[in-house]
Amino acid sequence: AKAAGRNTIKFFQDEMEKTVKYKLALENDLRQAIPKKQFELYYQPQVCVNSGNVLGAEALVRWIHPEKGLISPLDFIPSAEQSGLIHPLGALIFRTACEQLHSFPKIPRISVNISAKQFHAPNFVETIEQIIKDTNISPDRLELELTESAMLADIEETASKMNELKSMGFTFALDDFGTGYSSLTYLKQLPFDVLKIDRSFIANIMEDPEHAGIATAVISLGKALDLHVVGEGVETEDHLHFLKRQGAHSAQGYYISRPVPADQFIAWHTQRMTG
Ligand code: C2E
Ligand code: CA
Ligand code: CA
Ligand code: CA
Repeated sequence: AKAAGRNTIKFFQDEMEKTVKYKLALENDLRQAIPKKQFELYYQPQVCVNSGNVLGAEALVRWIHPEKGLISPLDFIPSAEQSGLIHPLGALIFRTACEQLHSFPKIPRISVNISAKQFHAPNFVETIEQIIKDTNISPDRLELELTESAMLADIEETASKMNELKSMGFTFALDDFGTGYSSLTYLKQLPFDVLKIDRSFIANIMEDPEHAGIATAVISLGKALDLHVVGEGVETEDHLHFLKRQGAHSAQGYYISRPVPADQFIAWHTQRMTG
C-alpha cells in the first residue's frame, strides 16, 4: 500500500512537472511570438436587431503558431496576463486593429478586448494615445471592452481613466455582463456606453424559462441604465427574435457570422450590402 501511495505521489509530481514545463514553454514561445507578430485578428460583426445593419465588429485575437497552428486566445491570454506579456501583446493587438480599420471604411467601429491588467498599467492611456497618433485613427471608431474583473480594483481610478479615454472619443463596453461580481452601484458609477450580455444567458433561453427570465431582466437593466445592449452568442433565429422582442439593440454570434479574418469580413460585409 505504501508503494502504491508513493507511486501515486510520483504520478502527481510527474504531472505537475509536465504542467509547469508546458506553461514555461508556452510563455517562452509567446515571448518570441510578439516581436515576430505571429498573431491575427479575426472579426465578428455586431448587427442592429431591427435593421440588420452592421454597427461594428469585435476583434478577436488568434495566435498562428509556426508548428501548432491556430491557438485560441483562451489558451494563451491567461498566460500573457500572468507573465506580463499582455502589455506588449495588448499593444500589438490594438495597433493591428487600428491599422486594419483603414480597410473597413464602412464599418462604424471596432471593439477591442482589453484585459484588466493591461487597463490598469500606469502607461495604458499613453500607449493607446501613441498608437492612435501613429495609425491616424479617430478614437470614436474604437470601443474598448472591459470585463467586470477590471473594475474590482479601485473604482475611482477606473472611472477617471475611463473618463480620460472617453474625452478623447473612445467608447466603452462592459463585456460578459452577469458573469462577474459587479454590483449595480459599480455599474452606475462607471461611464460605460454598451452592455454585452454574456452568451451563457442567451444559450438556454428556449429550453429554460428561468434563463429567459434572467436574460430579460439583464436586458431591462441595461436599458434602464441607458446603455446600448448587445446580446452575445446568438446562434439561432430564435435567439435573435428573443433579443428583438426584449428590446436589446444589437446582436453578435455564429447565426450572424463566426469570427473571420479581415479579408473575409470585408467580403461578408460587401456581399451583405449588395444583397
Ligand atoms: P469574449 O470577449 O467574450 O469573446 C466572445 C467569444 O465567444 C469569442 O471566443 C467568440 O468566438 C465566441 N463566440 C462568438 N459568437 C459565438 C456563438 O454564437 N456561440 C459560441 N458558442 N461562441 C461564440 P474567442 O475568440 O475564442 O475568444 C475567447 C475569449 O478570449 C474572449 O471572450 C476574450 O475574453 C478573450 N480574447 C479574445 N481576443 C482577445 C484580445 O484581443 N485581447 C484580450 N485581452 N482578450 C481576448
Ligand atoms: Ca469581448
Ligand atoms: Ca463577451
Ligand atoms: Ca466571454
